[in-house]
Amino acid sequence: MSFNILIVDDSKVVHAIIEKTLRMAEIPLGEIHHASNGQEGLEMLEAHWVDLIFADINMPVMTGDEMIERMAANNVTKSIPTIVVSTEGSATRVERLNKLGVAAFLRKPFKPEEFASLVRDILGKTHA
Ligand SMILES: [Mg+2]
Repeated sequence: MSFNILIVDDSKVVHAIIEKTLRMAEIPLGEIHHASNGQEGLEMLEAHWVDLIFADINMPVMTGDEMIERMAANNVTKSIPTIVVSTEGSATRVERLNKLGVAAFLRKPFKPEEFASLVRDILGKTHA
């Protein structure tokens, strides 16, 4: 089995880092989709089936919070595991996103090992 991934971040550098770290972790990968804001992320989700989402919070056009809120209100997208990757993580924000069903938070910059074990853990739980 291989996993389709969606990366939503306004930084091209972060896209490259996440993709590289996934490959280094030897996660079996299918398609990797890229979006640069929440709006594009939602459009990608309408067009493609994905198994795991990496989402930034601060982005132009539509923030990660709003994208995650909209995903939570949609039966097709609400159960897709989402890892929030951000430098920002105020307690209130984390709590709010947890209530919306976010799978995990990863603070930028992250260590490759930390990233790999988190991703394996989440994919293992949702695809056991
Ligand atoms: Mg950003």
